[in-house]
Amino acid sequence: MANVPVQRMSQLMAKTLRDDPADAEVLSHKLLVRAGYVRRTAAGIWSWLPLGKRVLANVERIVREEMDAIGAQEVLLPALLPREPYDATGRWDEYGQELFRLQDRKGGDYLLGPTHEEIFTLLVKDQASSYKDLPVILYQIQHKYRDEARPRAGILRGREFLMKDSYSFDTEDDGLARSYALHREAYQKIFARLGLDYRICAATAGAMGGSKSEEFLAPAEAGEDTFADCPNCDFAANTEAITYQLKPVDATDVPAAEDIPTPDTPTIETLAASLGVPASATLKNLLVKVDGEIVAVGVPGDREVDLDKVEAHFAPAVVELVTEADFAARPDLVRGYVGPQGLDKVTYIADPRVAPGTSWITGANKAGTHTKNVVAGRDFEVDQYVDVVVVQQGDPCPKCGTGLVLDRAIEIGHIFQLGRKYTDALKLDVLGQHGKPVRVTMGSYGVGVSRAVAALAEQTADDKGLCWPKEVAPADVHVVAAGKALQTELALDISQKLAAAGVRVLVDDRPGVSPGVKFTDSELIGVPQILVAGRRAADGVVELKDRRTGEREELTVEEAVARLTA
Ligand code: ATP
Ligand code: MG
Repeated sequence: MANVPVQRMSQLMAKTLRDDPADAEVLSHKLLVRAGYVRRTAAGIWSWLPLGKRVLANVERIVREEMDAIGAQEVLLPALLPREPYDATGRWDEYGQELFRLQDRKGGDYLLGPTHEEIFTLLVKDQASSYKDLPVILYQIQHKYRDEARPRAGILRGREFLMKDSYSFDTEDDGLARSYALHREAYQKIFARLGLDYRICAATAGAMGGSKSEEFLAPAEAGEDTFADCPNCDFAANTEAITYQLKPVDATDVPAAEDIPTPDTPTIETLAASLGVPASATLKNLLVKVDGEIVAVGVPGDREVDLDKVEAHFAPAVVELVTEADFAARPDLVRGYVGPQGLDKVTYIADPRVAPGTSWITGANKAGTHTKNVVAGRDFEVDQYVDVVVVQQGDPCPKCGTGLVLDRAIEIGHIFQLGRKYTDALKLDVLGQHGKPVRVTMGSYGVGVSRAVAALAEQTADDKGLCWPKEVAPADVHVVAAGKALQTELALDISQKLAAAGVRVLVDDRPGVSPGVKFTDSELIGVPQILVAGRRAADGVVELKDRRTGEREELTVEEAVARLTA
């Protein structure tokens, strides 16, 4: 094996910190800063210090190897991009406030790439002319820019972050399915090698458009996604992607709608309590504004509206909650007593649970009054059924009906079958087998490279600090010299021997730092094996400690070197 340089902590550009940074909310943020891996440069913008850069490079290497293994070709496109292609696909506007837009000195519009479908499509349009040039998979590992609304989770959600993005181009639909399957397998290998615990979950296509899409989610407390796992079958999905089937019921026996006085019952809780009915018997109507127009959203009274789902449904239109001023301008909308029957000039969308034939107690559009026996499809019309409720623990699995279990997770990868959305907009054709132009079909695939570092920290850290899996650790062995000259000499000597055999060594040779601080730091930094030149250094005996299990063993120098180079 090649000789690798020994990293000496006495020269390392990184200080460990005793205390958590004041602005840190999640574990990975606290630990990566405290252990000297990263420093915050501005909100959501991070600098990687030597140890952090090593971990990041290891993740990159694994991603690169597995992408190369499926025949993907690495390229590097610019991050600073012209506006025109994003105008052609509509994303210059649709991307909304997340897009970093800027101008050059001549007033020309540019953006910092949030993802590169347009530019890759144009590259292939320039390079490929015939079906013989396809299929092709191209990828890059590059910084992406998104002006995230809440860049609060440290490296997990940066405004500048490192992504591996790849794009497949095929002439046939089954070719796209193959490129997608290749990525799915490559991602399984990548995340297994990284040592991440993950699930593959069905996902919505979101603003990207297109058809099939799956997310790779790493279960973790700090995650911002919620996924549902079926304890009985293989169903797993991001809760955003779970939709409830519309099941119409027969309402012929339901008596006519009837107003009932219900003073002082402006909330579902007060209403259900005063009538002695479960909240699920009532219909809740939330008012929102979609690009300024009032829309009512109907859901059973015991369910919460998921505003993200409402936003996703209406995107790119902007969804806002109604205000006092909106109620003042529309006296027909009675706060707390809105019902879908007789609503005028209001679009009504409802959850599929409000299926045709279902009967409800709902607002009478008069203060202090509700109406019972209000039947969907008889007493009011639903303009559109949209799944908008928050999925709850115990909701039935869409596949087998068993109660779902919910967990938090971090999205570490995402694969999409985009289809022809981008190739249509940018007119990417190649000459087909029969001499006629064929519209190319496309997939896009992302791995959050910098996010994976934080996700790993989240999943593997313990109460002492970071605890890296071997393949991504910044070193294989952390050699600690307890302090005396002889111990430091021995530590440096072992470090040289190990390095000569290709072992990556971090050695704590800092003078004037107490052994206690060095031990604590070695646990915080999280290299998998810790080798201490301490008490018995004079006898040529060292202590080898496993960072994860804490198991220790006394070994002679020769034994230790043999063990670590095996
Ligand atoms: P999220 O829902 O977390 O914002 P996304 O759906 O916007 O993610 P994609 O557009 O699919 O993400 O990007 C591909 C991958 O890039 C994601 O799976 C994720 O791992 C990573 N990623 C996305 N946004 C960020 C970010 N702000 N910081 C770090 N990594 C990110
Ligand atoms: Mg995002």
